[in-house]
Amino acid sequence: MAFSRLSPAAQKQLLDAVVASSHKKPGAPPPVIVFDLDGTLFDNRPRSLAILHELASRWREREPEAATSLARATSEQLAYLLTESLANVGVTRTDLVAEAEVFWRERFFVDQYLKHDQPLAGAVQFAKDCYAAGALLVYFTGRDLPLMGAGTFASLRDSGFPIGVVGTELVLKPDAAMPDEAFKRLIGPDLARVGDVIAIFDNEPGNCNVLGEHFTSADSCFVDTQHLPGAPALAPSVKVIVDFQR
Ligand SMILES: [Mg+2]
Repeated sequence: MAFSRLSPAAQKQLLDAVVASSHKKPGAPPPVIVFDLDGTLFDNRPRSLAILHELASRWREREPEAATSLARATSEQLAYLLTESLANVGVTRTDLVAEAEVFWRERFFVDQYLKHDQPLAGAVQFAKDCYAAGALLVYFTGRDLPLMGAGTFASLRDSGFPIGVVGTELVLKPDAAMPDEAFKRLIGPDLARVGDVIAIFDNEPGNCNVLGEHFTSADSCFVDTQHLPGAPALAPSVKVIVDFQR
């Protein structure tokens, strides 16, 4: 599905306007900005790539051909679904795909590998500018607290995002088994406890629609990176950006 992206000038205008709206007005609740993490503030393809390169080392002796293909993989070849990524790099044998799927799943959703994630262009500066202007930042992610909480905190800190300071929150799923969309639909309304939600950033059309419907005066912004296949169409009010460059 192709989305109608804002021009670079319109993207800058939108992001600058969010920073400008981050100033707290006397007597009003504090402005809140809500950020998803995977595919929104972070490109997590480098995490998958690190895992596939590790698998390449494991396969080196036993499956040299597949190992070579994996070792040559680049971020650009990675899709949302691992099977598609493997096909893109030339690994299609069903037994190897099945093995890779288990190997990847055991590593992708745990603390230790989150250090490989890379912030999207402009993301750190944008979050810093919103925070400096006075907004409260909520990182609202489908990652789960038990297996990914500590690594997520470390990754935000090490990437330079405001975290662990007054006016920032990290909100994760209580349990990895809960579907992301159900979690955001259920917990999203609670964001009003923090203050006045003025902007929402997410790379899943469904989440942008749900949160945008709930916080009607906020800018709901879709970050056009990777998303779940079969996603719904975007609500007309949702704005489409590619990253956080201004
Ligand atoms: Mg995401």
